Amino acid sequence: MPLVPLSFASSSSRAMALCSTFCPRIPIRFRPKPISPFPSKPLFSLSFRAYSSQQPTPSTKDELGTLSIGFLGLGIMGSPMAQNLIKAGCDVTVWNRTKSKCDPLIGLGAKYKSSPEEVTATCDLTFAMLADPESAIDVACGKNGAVSGISSGKGYVDVSTVDAASSILIGKQIKNAGALFLEAPVSGSKKPAEDGQLIFLTAGDKLLYEKAAPFLDIMGKSRFYLGEVGNGAAMKLVVNMIMGSMMASFAEGILLSQKVGLDPNVLVEVVSQGAINAPMYSLKGPSMIKSVYPTAFPLKHQQKDMRLALGLAESVSQSTPIAAAANELYKVAKSYGLSDEDFSAVIEALKAAKSKEA
Ligand code: NAP
Repeated sequence: MPLVPLSFASSSSRAMALCSTFCPRIPIRFRPKPISPFPSKPLFSLSFRAYSSQQPTPSTKDELGTLSIGFLGLGIMGSPMAQNLIKAGCDVTVWNRTKSKCDPLIGLGAKYKSSPEEVTATCDLTFAMLADPESAIDVACGKNGAVSGISSGKGYVDVSTVDAASSILIGKQIKNAGALFLEAPVSGSKKPAEDGQLIFLTAGDKLLYEKAAPFLDIMGKSRFYLGEVGNGAAMKLVVNMIMGSMMASFAEGILLSQKVGLDPNVLVEVVSQGAINAPMYSLKGPSMIKSVYPTAFPLKHQQKDMRLALGLAESVSQSTPIAAAANELYKVAKSYGLSDEDFSAVIEALKAAKSKEA
């Protein structure tokens, strides 16, 4: 079943993005609420507002079973996201480079196709959750990629964390094939993915945003529509740049507290009760103190996000010295073979530096 008639899709999506009254099927009580206008210069010279909303509406729930959904990329994030769609009763077809990761989902009722091309050829709406810009571009635009199978009336939602330029490139190829494109990177990690509590930072075709909303609401707790493709990617990179710096600073604090004879467990408790509290500290602190790093967010992906965020900052001549210093620490941690550990393993890079000083 086609998502939208092409004639409808090709009418100015930008105009629709700016029209807060365009929200055809969602009752007023469920409409996305305006959060805040962006204060100063956005990345792409377009002023826009952010929206979030919570639950699928009764009317859109009816559509869950009628659209066929593709899911490409079944890593730490993609697997639980696809699983939540299956459990909600969606008709899901999966693909992953390493086929064995599809098997548990096939066991839950998912269909399987052997290439991204076959997935987009058979599905109305395809989500992609890939590691980085290179893999996202390859899966979308490479041989037997999503672009080869997609066509008018279909939609492609890339939920990977990539830079704006990569997202724009993928979006153009999808649009050239006649389909709609939405970037929708997520804030939240393994547990929120399992619990359907992710935050989607979307941008692109507003019609596809509306169509994808019930599915985003199965996988997440809120969604923001940010205008033109690139803005979702930029928002995600800014968020993860802050997170990466916070984690590096927290690691320094843990080690400093230990070195001056304090109990770092008490530090974590003190932090958790104060204004600087973030769930991340209570969640990761105790295991960091024990030097164990069960992977929720791989360190290699955090360093990738720091690198991409620094590139973003460079592109607008914004100084980001804290993030640049933190990035160096993640690079050191990678050089110690910690790429696939959780990003909280960045503390090991500081321990090594300390032992060299001693
Ligand atoms: P992951 O566990 O490393 O999974 C990466 C996925 O990308 C796997 O399905 C992998 O396939 C696939 N892939 C990698 N290189 C590929 C290639 N060259 N061609 C085809 N497929 C390739 O990563 P993740 O934690 O799920 O993260 C996925 C994305 O979400 C990343 O962009 C990450 O930054 C972002 N993100 C992660 C978190 C988190 O907490 N984990 C939170 C928010 C956002 P194989 O199985 O074959 O390796």
